[in-house]
Amino acid sequence: MPEASLRTSPSMRYDAIHKWVRRHKEKVGICSQCGVGYAGSPFHTEWANISGIYRRELDDYIELCKSCHFKLDYPDGHPNQFKPK
Ligand SMILES: [Zn+2]
Repeated sequence: MPEASLRTSPSMRYDAIHKWVRRHKEKVGICSQCGVGYAGSPFHTEWANISGIYRRELDDYIELCKSCHFKLDYPDGHPNQFKPK
């Protein structure tokens, strides 16, 4: 087996699991947290992972707007970019 095929970067894994979610779950177009977005227009929302470990479990993903998704991933703000001086 070629060695290269054994290596998958975290971003590749992230990408694969998001494709899998999109295949099995349909977006409503509205953020399940704050209600932002339009029904039938999936461009305002993205799939957010609740547990943070990207399980292949559909219940582990919720539809959120970018703002709520960011708050879920970084409850205290981004650890690197928004560190107070
Ligand atoms: Zn939202």
